[in-house]
Amino acid sequence: MNEAVAAKNFPQPIDAALVPRFAGLPTFMRLPVALSPSDVDVALVGVPFDGGTTNRAGTRHGPREIRNQSSLLRRVHHVTGVAPYDLVRVGDLGDCPVNPIDLMDALKKIETFFAGIHAAGATPIAAGGDHLMSLPILRALGKTRPLGMIHFDAHSDTNDRYFGDNPYTHGTPFRRAVEENLLDPKRIVQIGIRGSIYDPSDYDFARANGIRIIFIEEFARRGPDDVMGEAREIVGSNPVYVSFDIDSIDPSMAPGTGTPEIGGLTTRESQAMLRALRGLDIVGADVVEVSPPFDQGGMTALAGATVMFELLCVIAEGRTKAAG
Ligand code: MN
Ligand code: MN
Repeated sequence: MNEAVAAKNFPQPIDAALVPRFAGLPTFMRLPVALSPSDVDVALVGVPFDGGTTNRAGTRHGPREIRNQSSLLRRVHHVTGVAPYDLVRVGDLGDCPVNPIDLMDALKKIETFFAGIHAAGATPIAAGGDHLMSLPILRALGKTRPLGMIHFDAHSDTNDRYFGDNPYTHGTPFRRAVEENLLDPKRIVQIGIRGSIYDPSDYDFARANGIRIIFIEEFARRGPDDVMGEAREIVGSNPVYVSFDIDSIDPSMAPGTGTPEIGGLTTRESQAMLRALRGLDIVGADVVEVSPPFDQGGMTALAGATVMFELLCVIAEGRTKAAG
């Protein structure tokens, strides 16, 4: 760190040359805890909520284990050279309030918390939690104008109803977000989609509304650069949300998740695509569906923490350029 950077006195991760990585309190990236969103430019937030899960629960434990594994991450991106903690103020804002026994109350609490972050002018990067949490986050960030979205997932998450007439599960958030005009479906691209489906009509809502679905087979033919070139054109220069479901990655590399689908992205392909987000107007992001009870040796939580770091580098660089 040079003198000009040091003079800014931005929050820094604990120096691993002074305090070993296995020691101390496990915050995201070993950063200081931020008590208020107005203290940071980028807020790292846990959402320990899995009330939208329809089968194998456990993502409520995701934020804590992602924090633990994030202790492995260093401070400079090895490809782009971006040192996010020198560019912007980053902190661990703690966990969003949730309610594990009342889904509707949890949705309200999550929306309120992220509305506070948004009002303070900070960009949130949220660690989940199941994918339903993206809906209340989008309610907070997309209230005034619909957002575009780049969505990495094995699943489209645009189903309609479960267990009778229940509209809120981790299989429905983006249908609800389109219906609520939080997302512009013509500026949504879903990457990595695969796996068996309930019915041939499962993708009809997405297709009828103009959502671009890039199935894993198409991704495998075209590769990360070509696919992200198209994704960037779809979302354009207007505000965009990035949602990363860890089950987009192959379960051989990310087994700790509730709805694994074989034949997925590699971690390396995921990283290549996240780096291709540079220059977009990203207003928020999440990493969801990390489920420690199904994990092996923390490898899925490490993948989640590394996805957060990739997002952080892109967002920190973007905020710095936007500021002048
Ligand atoms: Mn999902
Ligand atoms: Mn999924």
